[in-house]
Amino acid sequence: LKVLVLGGGGREHALAWALAKSERVSRVFVAPGNGGTATAGGKIENVAIGHRVDDFPALIGFAQVQGVGLVVPGPEQPLVDGVADAFRRVGIATFGPSGKAAQMEGSKAFSKDFMRRHGIPTAAYERFTDYEQACAYVRAAGAAAVVVKASGLAGGKGVLLPRTAEEAEAGLRAMLVDGAFGAAGAEVVVEERLEGAEISVLAVSDGYTVAAFPAAQDHKRALDNDEGGNTGGMGAYAPAAVPSATAEAVRAIIQRTVDGMRRDGLPFVGCLFTGFMLTADGPRVLEYNVRFGDPETEAVLPLLESDLADVLVAACEGRLDAVPLVCSAERSAATVVMASAGYPGAYATGGAISLGAAASDTLVFHSGTARRGDGEVVTTGGRVVAVTGVGRSLQDALQRAYAGVDAVRFEGAHWRTDIGKKAGLTCGG
Ligand code: ATP
Repeated sequence: LKVLVLGGGGREHALAWALAKSERVSRVFVAPGNGGTATAGGKIENVAIGHRVDDFPALIGFAQVQGVGLVVPGPEQPLVDGVADAFRRVGIATFGPSGKAAQMEGSKAFSKDFMRRHGIPTAAYERFTDYEQACAYVRAAGAAAVVVKASGLAGGKGVLLPRTAEEAEAGLRAMLVDGAFGAAGAEVVVEERLEGAEISVLAVSDGYTVAAFPAAQDHKRALDNDEGGNTGGMGAYAPAAVPSATAEAVRAIIQRTVDGMRRDGLPFVGCLFTGFMLTADGPRVLEYNVRFGDPETEAVLPLLESDLADVLVAACEGRLDAVPLVCSAERSAATVVMASAGYPGAYATGGAISLGAAASDTLVFHSGTARRGDGEVVTTGGRVVAVTGVGRSLQDALQRAYAGVDAVRFEGAHWRTDIGKKAGLTCGG
């Protein structure tokens, strides 16, 4: 089986690594990939084609010439743009939802309406396209009691937790009047502010059956103690300790989501990422993503004992019930992201990376890196590498991850030193 992974982040490096472990997989192409997939060797190979809408014909042509039998899109944008539909039209199995089903991530207005329709517990909300009406609603509710969200894809930057009415109104004005997020902010969702610990659950589905990975916890802020700006994610660990009643409620919500999508004519084949807030009244869905999360993927895939290619192929063929997704019950994984100086603000690129020697049970997944002509690996992005440690306990996993971080060097590197610190305290486990 030849597999084509679309994307070039740490998530895609982890997917390529896990797929290459499968005996049935002869080749893993990553388009465009990064410095890590370029130097992975073995079955993994980069292809210099991007994954934007304009690149779809080139990707399809490449897949047809190479005889690719499975496509795994990493990021949300190509899915929202219909990459899975395009590949399926030419008969190539694709592990990802249709463009319509990807609206669960592409439009918060769409996903909130979906949740309301199917009785899925989530924060109360209203949708607005009119600035004055949105302001009146926020004033009545109180700014500190709401969250303001651009409805469309805003790269994780379209969510505002205002402290004052002025802040809320400035945010609404930026989105609805000034077009700060373009079409993504032309509609906003204003929702009830919830409190609790957050977990992310990645689940594979064939449209009927759901197979979840262990719950993970992300760390979104740039600095220790959840200070600093929001990022794509600075680290994660899994499994997050979740009481069994909560785990059961979470599982039921994900199943109800997949069943609801099927009934709405949007069968979901792919990885459904559900972000939950564990409130005093039970788990509430904060958001859906229609693909593997980054950095959660780098933390959960190393725990997978099943053959990932078997699982993804079974999902594409609608027979996931026959192929169990088994993760280690005895091991934990922790991922620490190393970022460029300045990230999540402006940062420089092109710095040389020294990777050192990776210890056992430590994995270095590349995000923003490239291999230059002379073979040197250099930084190209804000998040540069994701270092995962696997161990018998979370403490053990964290120790290995941080030892791995110490071995990686590039100028200005920064990372959080408190990944996994709040574990247990936050999830009530
Ligand atoms: P990403 O895709 O990067 O996770 P996003 O832009 O899709 O982000 P959300 O996940 O909806 O946005 O929200 C981002 C963060 O804002 C959440 O992880 C959570 O910390 C906070 N948040 C979102 N909704 C609420 C809410 N109703 N109450 C309290 N906090 C919230």
